[in-house]
Amino acid sequence: MTLVMKFGGTSVGNATAIRETAELIRQAKTEWHELVVVASAMGSRPEKVTDLLLRGAQTAVTGDDETYRQVAAQLRHIHQTAIHELLIDGVEKEEVLAENGRFLTRFESLCQAVHVLGELTPRALDAISGMGEQMSVRILAAYLRQQGVAAQAVDATQLIVTDANFQDAAPLMESTRERVQAQLRPLLDQNIIPIVTGFIGATAEGIPTTLGRGGSDYSAAILGYALPAREVWIWTDVDGVMTADPRLVPDARSIPMLSYREVSELAYYGARVLHPKTMRPCVAHGIPLRIKNTFNPEHPGTVIVETAVNGNGGVKAVTAITDVSLITIEGKGMIGVPGIAARAFGAVARTNVSVLLISQASSEQSICFVTPSHAADRVITSLSEEFAVELHRQDIDSIWAQQDVAIITAVGAGMRGTPGIAGRIFSALGTQQVNIIAIAQGSSECSISLVVDGKDTITAVRYIHQLIQT
Ligand code: ASP
Ligand code: MG
Repeated sequence: MTLVMKFGGTSVGNATAIRETAELIRQAKTEWHELVVVASAMGSRPEKVTDLLLRGAQTAVTGDDETYRQVAAQLRHIHQTAIHELLIDGVEKEEVLAENGRFLTRFESLCQAVHVLGELTPRALDAISGMGEQMSVRILAAYLRQQGVAAQAVDATQLIVTDANFQDAAPLMESTRERVQAQLRPLLDQNIIPIVTGFIGATAEGIPTTLGRGGSDYSAAILGYALPAREVWIWTDVDGVMTADPRLVPDARSIPMLSYREVSELAYYGARVLHPKTMRPCVAHGIPLRIKNTFNPEHPGTVIVETAVNGNGGVKAVTAITDVSLITIEGKGMIGVPGIAARAFGAVARTNVSVLLISQASSEQSICFVTPSHAADRVITSLSEEFAVELHRQDIDSIWAQQDVAIITAVGAGMRGTPGIAGRIFSALGTQQVNIIAIAQGSSECSISLVVDGKDTITAVRYIHQLIQT
């Protein structure tokens, strides 16, 4: 039976964390026949390696040829410190130092090229930002070997075949499955643990890509699908998925079990637990995903499965997305006119902005939707152009944005078919004088989202949280 375990940036953030991670890997290998490890770039403090790499590239393109050199020095320091603290002097250590050095030399020359050309393409960004994982897996694999655990660093550019949508590449599952069988199988058969880079892949032609920020979770799920694995474990720095953000709700607690659907909804609505696409490959084979805390390994964390127990027919978790704006298109001339919504969302799509929530009253006098605040002006401009004629004729009276609102979402599959949940949520907010500006419930009935004034965020989250039963 095969287990895939993914370790996030904090789990490989420095020598101490890498030692603990290696110990977890050693233990898991005693319990599982086959083990595949996926690791992120070092989540060093105060700045993560991936952020540093991106900063180097982004400053280079603006004509600054100082910052990326400083960043390279900082990255050298971070990685060399870990290597010196972990590895004993010898050939292995020299090799890891040399390999890491080569990546950083390459980072500097790529940034220099960006600086000279004054152009930073998504393709170049992917080549640059994926190096953190390539460095971290080499350190972790070498340390494991030194501890007597057979391990080998593997670049996912050899395994995960993607399309050429740089920065947010999608895996091509069939080609990936073939590569994984061809490359990982032989290692597993020799009892070697592959330590695979998270986050990155490559096109069929071998051009490096990335799966999007936070994409290492997704990498683990893709490998879990391709092997296939019995389970995928995501090791992070919290005790699983929480009922709410503990910074907003001090008595937030870990949820023992969730369904794929509930987690997708949570991830979409702002719970920073998993990369939102992580569930997809797991759903295909019904592979359970487990979220565990590297710093509290005894805690069972959260397990995510096909159908979870329904949490007493109610709300299981509540999230908030802030820094969003509510855009409203309003007018009496919209009643019964087909195509207004299609044109509106066409105009939004042209601005490349994603819509987080949509709501339309059945009177059809207004359509409203939520977008990130930074994009609101662009969206309004595009809509005003699209509806110039209707605005002139006053079929549409106005298109406007209410800044600084928040989307509060209550999630729980047990809400489906359970009457009264919405009522309880509204009463909870009513007693606190929180005004609800708009409401949306997906027909899956797995979540209810409310738009409230940004200043009411904490109150709304706390009072809905009180409805969660355990
Ligand atoms: N290192 C990448 C990032 O910071 C991927 C990950 O950590 O999941 O976005
Ligand atoms: Mg992450």
